[in-house]
Amino acid sequence: MQNINKDRYNNMQYNYCGKSGLKLPALSFGLWHNFGDHTPYQSMVDLVLTAFNNGITHFDLANNYGPIPGRAEENFGKILKEELAGYRDELIISTKAGYTMWDGPYGDWGSRKYLIASLDQSLKRLGLDYVDIFYHHRMDPNTPLEETMGALHSIVQSGKALYVGLSNYDGTTLEKAVNILNKLGTPCIINQNKYSIFVRDIEENGLKETAIAAGSGIISFSPLAQGLLTERYIHGIPEDSRVKTDARFLQETGVKEKLPQIQALHEIAKKNNMTLSQMAIKWQFREPGITSVLIGASKPSQIIENIEALNKPDLDAQTIAEIDAVIKP
Ligand code: NDP
Repeated sequence: MQNINKDRYNNMQYNYCGKSGLKLPALSFGLWHNFGDHTPYQSMVDLVLTAFNNGITHFDLANNYGPIPGRAEENFGKILKEELAGYRDELIISTKAGYTMWDGPYGDWGSRKYLIASLDQSLKRLGLDYVDIFYHHRMDPNTPLEETMGALHSIVQSGKALYVGLSNYDGTTLEKAVNILNKLGTPCIINQNKYSIFVRDIEENGLKETAIAAGSGIISFSPLAQGLLTERYIHGIPEDSRVKTDARFLQETGVKEKLPQIQALHEIAKKNNMTLSQMAIKWQFREPGITSVLIGASKPSQIIENIEALNKPDLDAQTIAEIDAVIKP
C-alpha cells in the first residue's frame, strides 16, 4: 500500500453536479483504456493513485471496459482493496450498462432485466456494495423509456447506486427521460457525452441546452479526442501511443486527417502559454454547463499536465474565436 498525499484536496476544484448536492472534481478519470489485459497492473495503480493524490475523486468505469469486457472493473476493484481501503467515502465510483456485455437477448441495450443483472455483476467485479453513479450507457430505440428509467429508479431504491445518469442521449430523449425520472423521484443528475474542440454534437442535438435547463450536470468524455488534442502526434505516431497500442477506436488515418488542425491549435496554445491538452481542457469551461471533464491517460505525467490546466487563465474571446476559425474555417 502506497502513501496517500495529505494535501490532495488543495489544488482541485469541485463543481456541483447540476442542481444535485453532489460535487465532482473539475477533472475526472476514466478507465476505458489502459485498465485491461494489455497493461501491467503496477501502471494501473500508478495512474489511479496519481489521480487520487491530486484531488481526482471520481473514477469512471463501465461493465464492458477491458479488454476483456469486465476487466477494468476487476482491476479497479483490486486497486480499491489493496491501495485505497479506508477511502471509499472519499470516492465517487461510476459504472454503466448499455452496450453488449454477454451472449443472448439479455446482455445488451436497456431492458430492466439487463440493467439490474449488469449492475449486480459490476458490483461483484468491483468488490463493492454500491456505486455512486450508475448510467444507462446509450439510448435504446426498442425498449420503452419508462422501463429503462424505472430500472434506474429501482436500482437507486435498492441502494445499489446512489445517483443515476444517462450517457450518449440526445436533447429530445433526455427531456422525456428527465420527466419520467422526476415523476419517480430519482433525478438524472448527470449526462455523459462526447465533447471536445473537435466534437460538438451536444451543442447541435439539444443535449447541452436541455441538461442545463433540467438542472442536470454534464461530464464530457474524450475531451482530448483520445489524444489528438495533445502534443502526442505532432511529430509522428509514437510506439507507445493509443494509435499503436490499442487502435480499436483511433487509427492512423484519424491522426493524418486532423494533423493540420492539431498543428494550428498547438500554435494557439503556445501563444497562450499552455500545452495543447491544457487549452483543450480550459476550452470546456469557456461557458457554463460542464461539471467535469473526463480524461484518460496512459502515464501519470499526463494526468499532472492536465490538472495544471486548472491553474491557467480562462481563454479569452479572441482565443476562442481563433480556435473556432481552425475548426470551421
Ligand atoms: P481523452 O480524450 O482524455 O484521451 C485520453 C488519451 O489522450 C490518453 O490515453 C493519452 O493517450 C492521451 N493523453 C491524455 N493526456 C495527455 C497529455 N497531457 N499529453 C499527451 N497525451 C495525453 O479521453 P478518453 O478517450 O480516454 O476517454 C476518457 C474517459 O471517458 C474514458 O476512460 C471513459 O471513462 C469515458 N468514455 C465514455 C464513453 C461513453 O460512451 N460514455 C465513451 C468513451 C470514453 P496515449 O494512450 O496515446 O498516451
